[in-house]
Amino acid sequence: MAEGNLSAVLHAKNDLRLEQRPIPTPGDNEVLLRMGKVGICGSDVHYLTKGAIGDFVVKAPMVLGHEAAGTVVKCGQNVKNLKPGDRVAIEPGVPCRMCEFCKGGQYNLCPDIFFCSTPPDDGNLCQFYKHAADFCFKLPDHVTLEEGAFCEPLSVGVHACRRAGVKLGSVVLICGAGPIGLVSMLVAKAMGASKICITDIAENRLNIAKQMGAHHTLLVDSSNAEELASRVHAVMGKEPTITIECSGAESSIRLGILATKSGGMLVLVGLGPPEIKMPIVNAAVREVDIRGIFRYANCYPVALEMISSGKVDVKPLITHRFALEETIQAFETARTGAGGAIKVIISCE
Ligand code: NAD
Ligand code: ZN
Repeated sequence: MAEGNLSAVLHAKNDLRLEQRPIPTPGDNEVLLRMGKVGICGSDVHYLTKGAIGDFVVKAPMVLGHEAAGTVVKCGQNVKNLKPGDRVAIEPGVPCRMCEFCKGGQYNLCPDIFFCSTPPDDGNLCQFYKHAADFCFKLPDHVTLEEGAFCEPLSVGVHACRRAGVKLGSVVLICGAGPIGLVSMLVAKAMGASKICITDIAENRLNIAKQMGAHHTLLVDSSNAEELASRVHAVMGKEPTITIECSGAESSIRLGILATKSGGMLVLVGLGPPEIKMPIVNAAVREVDIRGIFRYANCYPVALEMISSGKVDVKPLITHRFALEETIQAFETARTGAGGAIKVIISCE
């Protein structure tokens, strides 16, 4: 690959181009990174095919990619935690560090956060990229750049399980066996959940979930949620105290409420239609708490520790690999799920 900064730039809906961009200069608290591996997230595909997610609209050309790892090539003068040659996982959200959310540790809620490949912020599906040094986490030698890139979706799973209160002996229902549902399952197991059932509308996703250690799987459809809840209870032999919803589908959120044991917790990770119909009184009178999830805060170190210790193995989720020059093809594979694609990784090296 020629020396330059080949970058995957989304100009508008369905207009993704590979083009050269200048190599950035790191600021005093930043590092310049030679990008290694970048995973394709459902949101990247969504920006490509729809040009927007909710209020975030692609109005100017934007580099895609935010599930990434790379190697430090240059450090700004204040950087003490890293040195050239260090391989790092890149936490894509850099908050303002000044507001009440940042100060309180909920920096994912910072209104001024920079977040890779969320308009108007450029992502890092490119050859060279600069980032805040304190949002880069050094990888141990035995952890690969692909695993480093996986710290991003894995952190969503860590945040979801933390907010759900998963602990030793938890009985957990996970709705949706996409990458996020699967990492949530891996984290829930690592946190001590003793029984996990995962649902999906696609049999192939459930087969993977089973291979990755789901205790139970349930093929669902959009039929009667009460009946589906009874099936969940029958399959698990118990009522789940925690449900982690990772599809965003209305029928799945309805199931999440009805299947969760009284006094339990439903966390909403999946982001589907902005408004839905759900049995809210049922949740209220049975004290089923409902919590939202937005990305993660202070989860990267835990995600990396889980990978490096071997507590969690994300490698089976990586189904397809492409070179940066094959980005269009890589996105097509991620979009269609061709060949049973779960996580598609692009190599920028
Ligand atoms: P994905 O589309 O690959 O996976 C979703 C899975 O849900 C698919 O396997 C699909 O077959 C399944 N599904 C669809 N309808 C269903 C239903 N009724 N019941 C059960 N399963 C059903 O997406 P992903 O990358 O795994 O992400 C999952 C969701 O999480 C998306 O909605 C995404 O936007 C959201 N997400 C949220 C956050 C956050 O911070 N809250 C972060 C990342 C992703
Ligand atoms: Zn802030």
